[in-house]
Amino acid sequence: MNNKRALVCGAGGFIGHHLVNLLKSKGYWVRGVDIKYPEFCQTEADEFLLLDLKNVISCKIALTLNDSKNEFDEVYQLAADMGGMGYIHTAECDILHNSTLININMINEAAIKKIKNYFFASSACVYRSMETDESFVGEELAYPAMPDNEYGWEKLYAERVALAYGRNYGMNIRIARFQNCYGPFGTWKGGKEKAPAALCRKVASVPDNGVIDVWGDGTAMRSYTYVSDLVVGIHMLMLSNLQEPVNIGIDQFVSVNELVETIAKVANKKINIKHVEGPVGVISRNHKFEKINSLGWKATVDLEIGIKILYPWIKEQVEMCLKSNRDIEKVNFKSSPYA
Ligand code: NAD
Repeated sequence: MNNKRALVCGAGGFIGHHLVNLLKSKGYWVRGVDIKYPEFCQTEADEFLLLDLKNVISCKIALTLNDSKNEFDEVYQLAADMGGMGYIHTAECDILHNSTLININMINEAAIKKIKNYFFASSACVYRSMETDESFVGEELAYPAMPDNEYGWEKLYAERVALAYGRNYGMNIRIARFQNCYGPFGTWKGGKEKAPAALCRKVASVPDNGVIDVWGDGTAMRSYTYVSDLVVGIHMLMLSNLQEPVNIGIDQFVSVNELVETIAKVANKKINIKHVEGPVGVISRNHKFEKINSLGWKATVDLEIGIKILYPWIKEQVEMCLKSNRDIEKVNFKSSPYA
């Protein structure tokens, strides 16, 4: 035991659930909070509270420990209304409304509770779109601001709110801008899933030499960070002195077509891509990771190794769904608690 106590908001979600496991492995006492339990396996949190963090009272409850010390050593704020590009482009008002309320209420209540160490999960979506041949840039490129979507604007606003509370209430604010994250135990169908999970599902659902739809022309460049690497980076950042937002991601940039090729190779299938119209997002993200690397963090799981872990898990989910005759391609934002 290290006697530290951590609060993880969004602990029922993909990254939050993996972060709880990491903190537990490091001897923390962990309280997880979310509007739902993790969907695909049990939480390892010592305590899990179902709370809607849009609500001020819920934020107070989340932050309250009923003992003499009555204070969390570290608060990790990952709760957000979010999803892949399809969701981001159709649920703009839900995202802006819900995530803003969560973020302003949590940071305000954390300041009232005199929380010293507060982490906020931001996103590479705060950046403007880049051309593939542009040179690589650091975190300062977020300004002048021109995020490609409202999800990115909300994240940028929430970063600024957190930094202002840090300055005014003496809180150590740590902010990570995540590149796309992937791995098992995340949403893989229903409309909120992100590209790696969606493409694994599509590949798993077609026979050898089958055809899958891919939004856009497949040339958009991204870097995909495996979830176990990401949560280690979050924890190292929390313990660091880095006061400005920090990119966390792997130095391996691939196109969406290359992502499909990697999945097809792992699945041992020939896959034919049909490019269709759909939300694609920015053209490229040429981001440097020097700041997080300066802490000694470096991604260890390259894309093919990560897909070798993710693909079999999604294939199993697809097979279970097909056995019970459920429609795996149906978009159902009603599964969202906000619908
Ligand atoms: P996720 O959707 O799996 O997790 C978010 C969790 O927040 C969900 O479990 C959801 O139920 C919870 N939540 C939503 N509204 C809530 C509310 N009102 N009260 C309490 N809990 C609520 O997403 P994720 O992929 O685990 O992302 C975690 C964080 O990282 C988010 O802030 C996201 O914006 C950010 N992020 C993720 C990625 C990625 O590739 N997954 C990339 C950039 C940034």
